[in-house]
Amino acid sequence: MNTLSARLDELRGAAPACRHNARTIAALTANPGCARRALLDAAAADKAAIARELGFPPRFGQSQFAITRGNAFEAMVKENGCAELLALLRDKLHLPIPEVAYHDLNSVGDNAGNAVRYKRTRQLLAHAISSGEGTLFDHPMLRLDIAGATAYLEPDVVALQIGGRFHVVEIKSFPVVDGQADPMQVAAAARQSAVYVIALRELMTEIGESPDLVSHNVILVCTRDFTNRPTAELVDLRKQIAVVSRQLSRLTSISELIETLPEGASFAPGEHLAKTIADIPARYAPECMSSCELAFACRDAARTTGSVDALGRGVCDDLGGLDDIDTVLAVADGSRDLGPEFADITRMLRQADRLRLEIAG
Ligand code: SF4
Repeated sequence: MNTLSARLDELRGAAPACRHNARTIAALTANPGCARRALLDAAAADKAAIARELGFPPRFGQSQFAITRGNAFEAMVKENGCAELLALLRDKLHLPIPEVAYHDLNSVGDNAGNAVRYKRTRQLLAHAISSGEGTLFDHPMLRLDIAGATAYLEPDVVALQIGGRFHVVEIKSFPVVDGQADPMQVAAAARQSAVYVIALRELMTEIGESPDLVSHNVILVCTRDFTNRPTAELVDLRKQIAVVSRQLSRLTSISELIETLPEGASFAPGEHLAKTIADIPARYAPECMSSCELAFACRDAARTTGSVDALGRGVCDDLGGLDDIDTVLAVADGSRDLGPEFADITRMLRQADRLRLEIAG
């Protein structure tokens, strides 16, 4: 184990590791400036448990009912070596899938360890490329470098090889009704699938193959209308892949962030926890509410400190350079002048204040 991994394990304490997944990586790249989330995720800390310990339990996430329904749908699509999935890909997407070999990469013998499963995934995919044999790879174990720390990813997806190219197949239980799905759910699924495409391309590079062997088109399998029958669409992820890749490259290095923590800092429960968390810089934005378990704790802190972050990214961009709400209000009511450098923002704030007074009065 290298020093960084050991330090991250020490930071997490005795709690079991919460493995990164595409949802956490997609959320991390949506707020790349937040060192707090970056460190907690890198240490595989249980953010929900930490939020509860801080007195701000998270209030988002899938209901148990939705999770059970999703698992049952996925199991049905993958039954009998993905028979249902293959029929769908042939009938609906007209994909030429002549013969099928199915490999379940969920464990290697009795060993379900990350590193062993990753090695096995590499071996099987390398063999599939050189021999042309092998069509479906269920639960491949992938790996991604997140700001210098290794994260293992265990997609629920299947990697499908057709004509020497791999496609990620993402199975989601939200419905497509009359050919239309909830755009928010499709966008979230697209971001997550983009993470898997990037990780699969990294694997290709590691085995000396071209990353272009992984298609930018993923196959999204959802429920059709109000039934539990599956339907599939090809989704072009070029834009999402570019955005997630760019954000991943912009994350501050975890070893640099860890250096800012005092010796012995830990995310283990206890009276020190609130201070340890508070001392790590965060970038709260209203979007955190739907993507991070610590959102209520961070919102409370942002309100207490009067940071403009609590007002959302759009407002922060408009206020470029002003970072506390007291200053913004003082500029707006004319009791403070920040000089010519802030002339545009000053004009905008004073006009907004005049409008507010007109409406109020
Ligand atoms: S909720 Fe807090 S820790 Fe999570 S991303 Fe937002 S600011 Fe960062």
